Amino acid sequence: MHDKNFAEVPSADASGKMGRRDLLRRSLIVLAAAPILGACGSSGPDCSSTSGLDPAALANRTTMQYVEHSVRASSHCSNCRFYTAGAANACGSCTLIAGPINPDGYCNLFSAPA
Ligand code: SF4
Repeated sequence: MHDKNFAEVPSADASGKMGRRDLLRRSLIVLAAAPILGACGSSGPDCSSTSGLDPAALANRTTMQYVEHSVRASSHCSNCRFYTAGAANACGSCTLIAGPINPDGYCNLFSAPA
C-alpha cells in the first residue's frame, strides 16, 4: 500500500515542484554515478604492477615508500628530477626506483629539478 501511494506521487506538480518520486529517482542516479565519477577523478594509469621486479628492486620500492598517488600537492613523480615520462596516459620510469612509475606517484627520494 505504501508503495502504491509512493508510485502515485507525481514527479512534478503544475508549478514545476519536484515530487518525492522524482527526487528519489534523481538521488539514486547520483548515488549510482558516484563511484564512476570517483574513478574518473583518479589521475593517471595504474602503475602498481611489480610482477617483473626482482626482490631487491621490489624491496627498494617498498623501502622508499613509493605510492601511486602523492598526498603532497606539489610533489609528484612527474615533477621529480628522476622521472622519465612514458607515452600519454601511460606509466613512466625512474632512475632510482625500478618498475612502472605513476606520474602522480611519490617516494621518499623525491627531488625537484635543479
Ligand atoms: S625518485 Fe621517487 S618521486 Fe622521484 S620519480 Fe622516482 S619514484 Fe617518483
